[in-house]
Amino acid sequence: RAKSDGRKAFRFYSADMTEQARERLAIETALRHALTRGELWLAFQPRHDLVSGRLVGAEVLVRWEHPTQGLLLPGRFIAVAESTGQIEQIGAWVLDEACRQLKRWEQAGIPEIGLAVNVSGRQVLQGNLIETVQAALERTGCRPDRLELEITEGFLIRGPEASRVILERIRDMGVRIAIDDFGTGYSSLSYLKQFPIGTIKIDRSFVRDITLDPNDQAIVTAIVALGRSLGLRVVAEGVETPEQMAFLGECGCHEAQGFLYSKPLNVREFLGYCKRPGDRG
Ligand code: C2E
Ligand code: MG
Ligand code: MG
Ligand code: MG
Repeated sequence: RAKSDGRKAFRFYSADMTEQARERLAIETALRHALTRGELWLAFQPRHDLVSGRLVGAEVLVRWEHPTQGLLLPGRFIAVAESTGQIEQIGAWVLDEACRQLKRWEQAGIPEIGLAVNVSGRQVLQGNLIETVQAALERTGCRPDRLELEITEGFLIRGPEASRVILERIRDMGVRIAIDDFGTGYSSLSYLKQFPIGTIKIDRSFVRDITLDPNDQAIVTAIVALGRSLGLRVVAEGVETPEQMAFLGECGCHEAQGFLYSKPLNVREFLGYCKRPGDRG
């Protein structure tokens, strides 16, 4: 009996794998045309200063208007693009487009906005990120100090020495480097010292229960204190309630983003958000 159950389980498992493989292949194939057909677009999620309440910038989040499946979030295609290498082309486009927007906004009289762009570890370790960033800045004429690159700590561990050299070159151009999803990876604290980090972003998983869970409170308070004492900017992600915002403000976190302020917006909506009369603070 146990045997036949086992066989059944195995059959389900392999059918599942086939389904997954088919889905990956379909994504990979469609993704090849996504850029040339203009199916990718950028969403902007507002980031606010926790002391003044002011809008200080946004995180850039890529979106894919799939021809048959409709709007796809990065969770559906970024991992595939990373494994095929397509992320290098996509990432370069995202950077270029973000810099173009920054320049446009500067010219439109809203120069105080900064943009944070997610960068895959593959772009750092296998792509030519230095040249890509340099080219985007030169092509668009946007100010490097308006641009931040978010990278997750997991990738740094795969090639710490190579990453450090590359990220230092980028930092030297005046672009800020942020550690994304801080606390969820290997979190070797020596990295904060080793890499040219300017910002840490506290992962949403620590923020979610921050008003209820003493462990999360302790972790977030410690991350903020650590970041502040190292002279880093500390940003909380996934802030959904005024209570979470208040706790973060009290423990000295600098900035926050999340549904409390706004969901990610398309460029037109984001411009409206920038110009709205009641900018908090
Ligand atoms: P992330 O960098 O940690 O981005 C934050 C994610 O949390 C976004 O999901 C955002 O929509 C979501 N979020 C923001 N505020 C809240 C909130 O208050 N509550 C909840 N529940 N969620 C919130 P999204 O847009 O689906 O992006 C997922 C991930 O995909 C990002 O995580 C990032 O790692 C990756 N990603 C997005 N755009 C790019 C890109 O251009 N390049 C690369 N390499 N990765 C990207
Ligand atoms: Mg991010
Ligand atoms: Mg994040
Ligand atoms: Mg996260």
